[in-house]
Amino acid sequence: MAWASKPLDPVPGYFEDEAVRLVLANYRLLWALDHASSLMAWDTETNMPRMGSPHRGLASAELATLRRRLLLDEKFVELVERAASREGLNDYERGVVRVLQREIRIARSIPEEIVWEMARIRPEALAAWREAREKGDYSRFKPYLERIVELNRSIAEHLGYEGHPYNALLDLYEEGLTVDVMDRVFDSILPHSRAVLEKTRSRGFYPEKHPLEDVEYDRAAMEEVNRRVLSLLGYPWERARLDVSAHPFTIAISIDDVRITTRYEGRDFRRTLMAVVHEFGHALYELQVDKNLAATPLQGGVSSGVHESQSRFWENIIGRSPEFARAIKPILDEKLGYTRSHDWLDIYRYLTIVRPDYIRVEADELTYNFHIYIRYTIEKQFIAGELGVDDARELWNSLMEEYLGIRPRSDREGILQDIHWAMGSMGYFPTYTLGNVIAAQVRGRILSEIPDLYERVEELDFKPIREALARLIHRWGSTYPPQELVERATGEPVNPEHFNRYIEWKYLELPEKLQ
Ligand code: MG
Repeated sequence: MAWASKPLDPVPGYFEDEAVRLVLANYRLLWALDHASSLMAWDTETNMPRMGSPHRGLASAELATLRRRLLLDEKFVELVERAASREGLNDYERGVVRVLQREIRIARSIPEEIVWEMARIRPEALAAWREAREKGDYSRFKPYLERIVELNRSIAEHLGYEGHPYNALLDLYEEGLTVDVMDRVFDSILPHSRAVLEKTRSRGFYPEKHPLEDVEYDRAAMEEVNRRVLSLLGYPWERARLDVSAHPFTIAISIDDVRITTRYEGRDFRRTLMAVVHEFGHALYELQVDKNLAATPLQGGVSSGVHESQSRFWENIIGRSPEFARAIKPILDEKLGYTRSHDWLDIYRYLTIVRPDYIRVEADELTYNFHIYIRYTIEKQFIAGELGVDDARELWNSLMEEYLGIRPRSDREGILQDIHWAMGSMGYFPTYTLGNVIAAQVRGRILSEIPDLYERVEELDFKPIREALARLIHRWGSTYPPQELVERATGEPVNPEHFNRYIEWKYLELPEKLQ
């Protein structure tokens, strides 16, 4: 392997140290592979003909192997270690070293056989999961789930951990996250959310079901609504795209090429609209990273939890506010028409209605974290070897009953509903709750800087909000580890009390004022 011997030109104030610049010059190769892989991943979900799947899977796996070999190449590791030993590095330079040392440690710890076994089993597990979900028959998926649990337990052992073995997997998605932190978060928010939910439901502000949930929309008209709303939020079309996929997602191909997707189910327009606002939050994070960090290891958002905090901020805190409902009503009335017979308050009710239900992705702000807690409890026990796949379904159903008062009628609305386990991933779900909690904490900070936040929303003046998020969070990319970034941005470590206060205000105090 011929590595570059000439360092990248200095970027004053960012990358000055020669050893770091030599790492960055050589990192370009890995970055280019990531660029290609991201484009392939986007294409797989949006454009690829169905039959292209096996070869796309093969090509992606080969590229991933190539990347791993480059990352672990003796020469590259040596360059990173040389940079790590330099004194007087600035925050950006230290960030580069931290991100790459972490990547190297993780890649080195997990043997190539496990990576391949996971890649091999994934398409079969996905096919089995789809069939099992279709038929509502957990037993068809169980053997694959068993294998995936085993592989994840083995990954945790290879990575190593302090305390609970699940910590090793949490850290993969959220650098430094532990069971202790998540237990503390859940202990704080779950009893509180349950109390708020009960009060809200007894007060009658929300109907049991909203009539707009069943109304069908014209797809072309809805696409126009989504585009108009994205434009108002400040989506830079010359640097970004909106496409359609089975599951909405965001992917950054480069700092100036970020793509989101949504889906059109044909009824209940808030689903596609809120997916768009959610993904906008993810996209904005990637689009507002400091351009000097482009094509370096610091280019992307720092973790799944911080990323989700940004999507939740836009979806829930901005998008599900009375001011937003008022502001977008003229667009809905113009394009969809049938919303004209509902006033803005009714649209707000439709966007924020709370109701315990089976499906996580459709859950409201008050019940969402219970869904995550159920998966977290099961995964934790799987990884500790305390729970077998045979007993997981019963645990799922009884936790649903205990926390949400409903029992899944089939595995389709129970243990088979999410794709994550079939993809092989465990340890990811908790970052959704962490994101909700961080979003509320960021809201507090934004309100202290922009006291008239919600008036800005009503006037569709999102620029100050975008700028504040850029300054506090986005511009840094992966420069600081997630917990440090949260502390720098909000003045304190992750604190679930902000979430508790936020939902109390939104679901108990606000409806009183609105009625
Ligand atoms: Mg998301």
